[in-house]
Amino acid sequence: MSQFWSPIVHQLTPYVPGEQPRIDKLIKLNTNENPYPPSPNALVAMRDAVGERLRLYPDPEATALKEAIARRYHIQPNQVFTGNGSDEVLAHVFVALLRQDKPLLFPDITYSFYPSYCRLYQIDWRTVPLNEHFEIDLDAYDESGGAIIFPNPNAPTGRLLPVLAIEQLLRRLPHRVVVVDEAYIDFGGKSAVSLTRDHDNLLVVQTLSKSRSLAGLRVGFAVGHPALIEGLERVKNSFNSYPLDRAAIAGAVAAFEDDNWFQETRRRVMDSRASLSKALAQRGFEVLPSAANFVFARHPARDAAELAQALRDKAILVRHFKLPRIDQFLRISIGTEAECEALLRALDGILKA
Ligand code: PMP
Repeated sequence: MSQFWSPIVHQLTPYVPGEQPRIDKLIKLNTNENPYPPSPNALVAMRDAVGERLRLYPDPEATALKEAIARRYHIQPNQVFTGNGSDEVLAHVFVALLRQDKPLLFPDITYSFYPSYCRLYQIDWRTVPLNEHFEIDLDAYDESGGAIIFPNPNAPTGRLLPVLAIEQLLRRLPHRVVVVDEAYIDFGGKSAVSLTRDHDNLLVVQTLSKSRSLAGLRVGFAVGHPALIEGLERVKNSFNSYPLDRAAIAGAVAAFEDDNWFQETRRRVMDSRASLSKALAQRGFEVLPSAANFVFARHPARDAAELAQALRDKAILVRHFKLPRIDQFLRISIGTEAECEALLRALDGILKA
């Protein structure tokens, strides 16, 4: 605390990211990073971007990246917004689109950054409970609220909504902004990007941190009607004109152009998710069906915080949230096959004890 802080700083509850500790031979299954490296082409493109030209500012519009994203989704570059990780994109979304007269609605169990943005930007919000199967129930998002945001698949549950359910919501509430945070969509879900063509109230946010293995590069983007994108650009250009540096733009473009690498690595993650889910179930865990690069699981006989600590003692990190309804769950990121096997071996030892 300091007497010199602006008054609002006293009221903030900052987001707490998963820890990045320095432990020898650590198996890190706590922050949903991709266990496989980025496309080799992306690494070459980034190295090529580091040179004499760094004395020049990067393209403030990241035009090459918007064009690459537009090619992938068969849309126009003016339907694309880019930023320094989807967290920064989301921050601008909260200011540009979600600060409305009526309270913002999001699930009671969801990405915990949303309430942090609300406090920072002084946005009133209301949470809508997941149903008893930990699914988002879009019918519960009614006329009494304002804008809506939810991840699909949801985090940290991993549960996926069909695009049809999102389409029905958009038809029912055509005058409300709906933001779908698709950080994990490439691991088995169908993107709602195609709906942006017919629904000018829909914004879809994605990231290169997960399915493109570029969490360290910090690149995210949003797709929506050009008018929504223009609102985001106005906020961004009132904050930081150059959120993406030269290496980030070059690496992200190359990552989008290497479809083989993308398909191969996401397939491996999805295959490991299926085998890990089965192996956890055989050990007595209840595992929620996941469409993400993590699983959310609880053991009926073992306290989740104690399990997380016992794994940590064996240099394996998983994420535990001390939050209502989910404090008996562990969120386990999908690692390489060897990492998943090491996790299961460690659990066998812990569960026997
Ligand atoms: N949305 C969700 C649901 C997430 O889990 C994350 C990752 N913490 C993000 C957005 C942000 O990812 P990034 O800033 O790395 O793009």
